[in-house]
Amino acid sequence: MTTTLLGIVDDRALGTDMRVIVTRPDRLAEAKAAADDVIKAIDAAASRFRDDSELSRINREPGRRIAVSPLMARALAAGLRGARLTGGAVDPTVGSAVRLAGYDRDFAAIPADGSPITVSVTRVPGWRAIEFDEADRTVCVMQGVEIDLGATAKALASDLAAAAALEAVGSGGVLVSLGGDIALAGDAPAGGWAVQTSEDSGAPLDESEETITIQSGGIATSSITVRRWSRGGVVLHHIIDPATGAPASGPWRTASVVAGSCVDANIAATAAIVMGEAAIAWLAANKLPARLVDRDGIVHRLAGWPAPRH
Ligand code: AMP
Ligand code: MG
Repeated sequence: MTTTLLGIVDDRALGTDMRVIVTRPDRLAEAKAAADDVIKAIDAAASRFRDDSELSRINREPGRRIAVSPLMARALAAGLRGARLTGGAVDPTVGSAVRLAGYDRDFAAIPADGSPITVSVTRVPGWRAIEFDEADRTVCVMQGVEIDLGATAKALASDLAAAAALEAVGSGGVLVSLGGDIALAGDAPAGGWAVQTSEDSGAPLDESEETITIQSGGIATSSITVRRWSRGGVVLHHIIDPATGAPASGPWRTASVVAGSCVDANIAATAAIVMGEAAIAWLAANKLPARLVDRDGIVHRLAGWPAPRH
C-alpha cells in the first residue's frame, strides 16, 4: 500500500479543538487560512455566546421578522433539517433548556460543581415555533423561543471549512475536525481517511483504539461523557431531550455516526443520544452506520459500522 504524506495542523476554535489535514502538505497554510475564515464567519453568525452574533439578535427580538446573512440562513436550514429528519429529537429550540441546565457560557468557564438548580421539566417550544423563509432569508421566532444551533452549526462549519480548504489547495483531499465533527472534501489519501473513534474528541491518537476508514462525507460523535457538570450532586450534561427539556437520560453515553456530510452525521449522532433504544431502528432505516456506547461502556456497532480489526 502506498502511504501519503499528510500535512496536519492543530488549533482551537468554537470552544473546542480543531484539526486540518491535507494530502498536499505544501498547501497546508492556505488550507488552514481558508478553514479559519469559514469558522470565524460561522461564529459571528451562529454563536450563542456572542451578543453581537446574528443568532443572539434573533433571540433578542421574538415576534419580529429578521433578515439574515446567507451563512446564517444555511445554519438555520441545517438546524431545521435536523428537526425534520429526526422527528424533533434534534431541535434548535433547546436554547433556554440548555441554558437552564447550566450550560450558559463557553464550556471552559462552566464550574464542574455547584449548588442545586431547578431544571424544569417542560417540553421545549419546538422547531415549528421558528418561521424561516429560506428563499427570502428571513426568520421570525415566537415569544419564549431561544434558538441554539450548537449541534448543527459546528458540523456545518466543518463541512464548509473542508470545502473552502479544498478550494484553496486546488487538488487532493482535506479533512477538517471540530471537536470530533469531521468533514472530508476531495480525494481521500490512499487507503482512505483513518479516523479514531474515541469518546472524547480530545483523546490522543492511540494504536490500540478502534479506527474506521472513510472516503468521503462526514463522521460525528456526540457524547454525554465530556460536556458534563454537576449541580447539587446531580450530574447534568449538554444534550437535551426536547420532550422533557432536561438532559437526555437514554441508554447511550456516546454515539458516532458516518453520513454523507458532517451535518447529517452530527444530526444523527445527537438524535441517537436523545432517541435512546429507538435510535437502533431509526439508524438502520436511514442506513447510517453508527457506533453506540452504552452507559456500561459496551459498544454496539449498527447499520454497517465495521467490526474492529485486531
Ligand atoms: P453535539 O455535541 O453535536 O451533540 O451538540 C450538542 C449541543 O447542541 C449542545 O451543547 C447544545 O448546544 C445543543 N443541543 C443539545 N441538545 C440538543 C437537541 N436535542 N437538539 C439540538 N441541539 C441540541
Ligand atoms: Mg451532534
